[in-house]
Amino acid sequence: MANKGEQRVKIALICTVCKNRNYITTRNKVNTPEKLKLKKYCNYCRKAVEHKETEKLK
Ligand SMILES: [Zn+2]
Repeated sequence: MANKGEQRVKIALICTVCKNRNYITTRNKVNTPEKLKLKKYCNYCRKAVEHKETEKLK
């Protein structure tokens, strides 16, 4: 069995409208090679807006 931890990168999701960093998540770089883009609720915009992946976290 391969080590699953090595295939996951920790990322932050930011609101594309207000640029606030709202979510911290992980992405499996094997299953999802492209950058994440998700519609999520933003507390600052007070509605569901597109969030995109930003820099990788250490
Ligand atoms: Zn927002």
